[in-house]
Amino acid sequence: MKGMDLYERLDSELEALRERGAYRRLPVTPEGLCNLSSNDYLGLSRDEALRETFYAQLQGEDRLLSSASSRLLTGNTAAARALEADLAEMYGAEAALAFDSGYHANTGILPALVGPRSLVLADRLSHASMIDGIRAAGCKFFRYRHNDLGHVRQLLERHAGEYDEVFVMTESVFSMDGDRTDLRALAALKRDFPNVVLYVDEAHGVGCFGETGLGCAQEEGVLQDIDLLVGTCGKALCSMGAYVICRQVVREALVNRMRPFIFTTALPPINLAWTRFVLRALPGMAARRVRLRELGQRLAEAIRETGRECVSESQIVPFLIGGNEAAAQAAEQFRAAGFHVLPIRPPTVPEGTARLRFSLTADLPEEAFGRLLDLVRHG
Ligand SMILES: *Cc1c(COP(=O)(O)O)cnc(C)c1O
Repeated sequence: MKGMDLYERLDSELEALRERGAYRRLPVTPEGLCNLSSNDYLGLSRDEALRETFYAQLQGEDRLLSSASSRLLTGNTAAARALEADLAEMYGAEAALAFDSGYHANTGILPALVGPRSLVLADRLSHASMIDGIRAAGCKFFRYRHNDLGHVRQLLERHAGEYDEVFVMTESVFSMDGDRTDLRALAALKRDFPNVVLYVDEAHGVGCFGETGLGCAQEEGVLQDIDLLVGTCGKALCSMGAYVICRQVVREALVNRMRPFIFTTALPPINLAWTRFVLRALPGMAARRVRLRELGQRLAEAIRETGRECVSESQIVPFLIGGNEAAAQAAEQFRAAGFHVLPIRPPTVPEGTARLRFSLTADLPEEAFGRLLDLVRHG
C-alpha cells in the first residue's frame, strides 16, 4: 500500500490541531503595550544605564560574539571560567557549570548522572525540559501530585530502599501558577531518606528571591541541602544560558558525560560576561525584588477578591477564566486597555482551566498597575 506523502500527513495532523483549538502560532509582540507576558522580571531589558555600564567596561576577549567551539575544544573561555568561579563563590558551593540554556541543562544533567539503580520522583507539573531529561535518562520514575510533599514521603517510604539513590525533582516557583515549593520541607526529607538527591529548578526564582537574589533556596536558607540547583539566565537575569550549582565530582561527571554540554558550541564570551555582570549587580537590586513581590501580592489579592482561586506566591499570577474562547476574549479586552497578556490554554493547562498568565516586572509603573487592578476587579 502506498503511504501518504509526508507533507500531506503533516497537513492533516496540523488540521487536527486546529480543530482541537491547540494549534500554535508564533505571535508578534505588539509595540506600545505594557508587556505582561515576558520573563524579564527585574525589568533589566529596559535598564539602559546598566547595559551601557557593561559595554563601557567590556574588554579583550570578553567582547567576542562567538566562542567558536565546544567547551571541551577551545570554547573554555576566560568568561566561562570567571562566571563559574563567581557562581560557586556566591552560592557557597564547591562548583558550578554553565550551559547554553535551561533546556540544555534539564535535558542533559539527569541522563549524565543516573545509574542502573536510580529512581526519579518529579512533581507532576514539572517543566517540559525536566520531563525530557527524565525520559532521556531512561530510569524508573514516578510523577508525584503537584506540590504534595506528603506524596513524595509516601513514595520514598515505599521505594527508597530498593534504589541506590532517589532524585527528587521540582521547580522552586512553578511557571504556570506561580506557586512555590516548600523547600525547607523538601530539604527535611533528606534527614529521613539519606539517599535522596535534591534537584531544584530555580528558573523563576533566580534574581527574584533571596537576600542577594540567588533564589528561593537562599531565601529559605537551604542552599546547602540542594544537591543540584539549576538557575537560568534568560529570565530575571536578562541574559541567556543556565547553570548548575553542585559538588565538584558532579561537575566532573557532567563535563565527561553530559551530551548537551559536550556536543554544542559554548555561549559567546560577551554573553557569559553579561551574565556575570548582572549576577554581580544582583545584591544591589533588593528594592526591585521588594517591588516585584509587592506587585505579585497585590495582583493575587485583587484576583481573589473577585472570587477566583489564585495560588500565586510570586511574580507569576494566573487569572483563571475557564473556557478557551473566554480566555482569548479576556486577553483581547486587556489588550484593548493597553496590556499585552497571553491566554494559556489546554493542553498546556488542564481542560477547563484556560487562563491569563500575568508575568510581572519590577519596573511596572504604579499608574499602569493601578489600571490593571481596576480591570481585574471590574472587567
Ligand atoms: C524557562 C524554563 C526553562 C528553560 O530555560 P531556557 O534557558 O529558556 O532554556 C527550564 N525550566 C523552567 C522551569 C523554565 O521555566
